[in-house]
Amino acid sequence: MVYPQTFEGYAVTDSATWNKVEKIEFTPKAFGPKDIDIKISACGVCGSDVHNVRGGWHKPHLPVVPGHEIIGTVVRIGDDATTNLKVGQRVGVGAQVWSCLKCETCLEENETYCPDWVDTYNDFYPDGSKAWGGYASHIRVHEHFVFPIPDVLDSNDVAPMLCAGITVYSPLVRNNAGPGKKVGIIGIGGLGHFAIMFAKALGAEVFTFSRTNSKKEDALKLGSDHYIATYEDKDWSTKYARKLDLIVSCGNSSKNFDLDGYLKCLRVHGKLVSVGLPEEPFTVSPGTFIKNGSLLGSSHLGSRQEMLDMLKLAAEKGIKSWHEDLKVDEEGISEALTRCYENDVRYRFVLTDYEKSFK
Ligand code: NDP
Repeated sequence: MVYPQTFEGYAVTDSATWNKVEKIEFTPKAFGPKDIDIKISACGVCGSDVHNVRGGWHKPHLPVVPGHEIIGTVVRIGDDATTNLKVGQRVGVGAQVWSCLKCETCLEENETYCPDWVDTYNDFYPDGSKAWGGYASHIRVHEHFVFPIPDVLDSNDVAPMLCAGITVYSPLVRNNAGPGKKVGIIGIGGLGHFAIMFAKALGAEVFTFSRTNSKKEDALKLGSDHYIATYEDKDWSTKYARKLDLIVSCGNSSKNFDLDGYLKCLRVHGKLVSVGLPEEPFTVSPGTFIKNGSLLGSSHLGSRQEMLDMLKLAAEKGIKSWHEDLKVDEEGISEALTRCYENDVRYRFVLTDYEKSFK
């Protein structure tokens, strides 16, 4: 097989023009004995792509090739790889491409919290080489972060699950969302729509909080049992006070985010896990916590085992993303980033037609 030494991708080169990309050629990290090279065929566009390229969290390491909801085909396998992948096999990659796999955290299957973890893009490996994402022809990844995709799941349907899906699946299972539990989900975007579907599939009673009523019908179709429009129902936090065991917040902004109100909706020692990562801090009054002993925290992606479990559950229950597909080129990526920023997506953009844009 003719094998590329460099890969091609669409890069943001200036944060001031964050929704414009240009095609670049880049050199991936040196091929390691446990690395897998993947020819990409689809990639979801995550809210994190927008935070990253706009420099909302920190100044990006430009040029940045974004994308961390990747589906593709294995084209090369390192000599020491042990996960039984085959050339030609369909696989996925999420928002993490490396961790040390040796520290106490990694050995406890908490590799997404390894102090040395490497994000799929806009990050660097310990040897200084740069990580490049999925708006690209190929990606090179350590096998631990490469996941076989069950045959019944369509590539474009499953791509967004590799980040958005696992990010909500992990805190749901780690906090026992299931039969008899009342689970709140805040914000119906890419993450939020999976959170509704997975909470329901796990057997919980689902309460969805959205700012307006515009997504009500969709939330109910996704499986939500209750719908609360927080900007339209002024008494929501009183009506739902002390009702929920767990809340997973998928909101990407802290603007008008009534954290005190959401915490009030928790039962004693209930937990609010914010997987959403707003660019500005939350404000909360300490007195809120004392009233019900509520707890506030976060969660980062999910372990390899959780990813495999999630994909199995999705295959068994027919769970798939609601997505709009756009061609992976300058126009398609610009539209996806712009509309994602404007909250004009139901509920994920997936970049497709890779074979037309890359040699
Ligand atoms: P989307 O843009 O698809 O969705 C964001 C949703 O947030 C909106 O649809 C909206 O829902 C809700 N929202 C926006 N502003 C507010 C507000 N002020 N108060 C309450 N809700 C609000 O983004 P994603 O789903 O892709 O990502 C969501 C967040 O999760 C991002 O910050 C992203 O960076 C983060 N993330 C975190 C990960 C992790 O490991 N923890 C991994 C991946 C992403 P509605 O219209 O229903 O109100």
